[in-house]
Amino acid sequence: MKVDLHTHSNYSDGTLDPEELIQKAHDLGISHLALCDHDSTGGLETARAKATGLNMTLISGIEINTSETSSVHILGYFIDEKSEDLQKTLRDHREIRAKRSEMILERLRQMGIKIHLSDFGGRKETASIGRPHIADKLKEKGVVFSRQEAFEKYLAKGKSAYAFYEGPTPQRAIEIILQAKGVPVVAHPGFFVSKEMMDNLVKLGLQGIETYYPTHRPDQIKWFLDLAKSRDLVVTGGSDYHGPGSGHELLGQVPVPAEVVDRIWERKQKLFG
Ligand code: AMP
Ligand code: ZN
Ligand code: FE
Ligand code: FE
Repeated sequence: MKVDLHTHSNYSDGTLDPEELIQKAHDLGISHLALCDHDSTGGLETARAKATGLNMTLISGIEINTSETSSVHILGYFIDEKSEDLQKTLRDHREIRAKRSEMILERLRQMGIKIHLSDFGGRKETASIGRPHIADKLKEKGVVFSRQEAFEKYLAKGKSAYAFYEGPTPQRAIEIILQAKGVPVVAHPGFFVSKEMMDNLVKLGLQGIETYYPTHRPDQIKWFLDLAKSRDLVVTGGSDYHGPGSGHELLGQVPVPAEVVDRIWERKQKLFG
């Protein structure tokens, strides 16, 4: 049983559509996959249908980037995607993302790189836009060769075209996931690791910690496992797969114990019955 609990489709900044993603996961022998698009649940329905046809389990997920400057992203598992409150909040986030993209594009235009928000037409109605989409346009125009280069030269924090994302607070992200009967889990904590931050998130209702992740070192994994034990948090993991050409391409390659799925489900039952 192979498990990957952190993937993206083209309903956010992944390069595959949900069906292609599921097919690829199936080809790699994955049995349980969570689709966690940034601020969109739009891909879940087709992903679920495709997964069912292939005898796989699709776990409904979400990833919410917060305005906390140190990459605090909150994953939600087994969310009720029909929740009106959740959908309204996600729509608001997508609107803020579009405005932020407009700011980034304005900065690029001032540097003579002419890209407009209208150039991103033809995308799905409920899809969210992010910096990787702008990176792809820069690549298309021959300005850079890869998403990575686009971030390094223009889009990463502190670079010339960067604009701050005024997202929700971690408190609000956790709250909205709980409201939608989901299990809130902190994504890739290795990117910010601070004991204070973790303590604070737990106080806010955090239920889990993404422990197994491509860039997590063994000593970090040990720390997160210890933390999960002492704080009664569920342990999760995934590759943060974004599809071919994305630079985040390790689908199914992060070892995640299969029992993790049951533990998350049990936590949901414990919280919401
Ligand atoms: P955004 O949601 O627009 O703030 O973009 C964040 C996303 O960009 C992350 O989820 C990653 O997929 C991607 N990303 C962030 N930093 C980098 C980087 N240095 N190189 C490539 N991709 C990145
Ligand atoms: Zn992403
Ligand atoms: Fe993330
Ligand atoms: Fe992610």
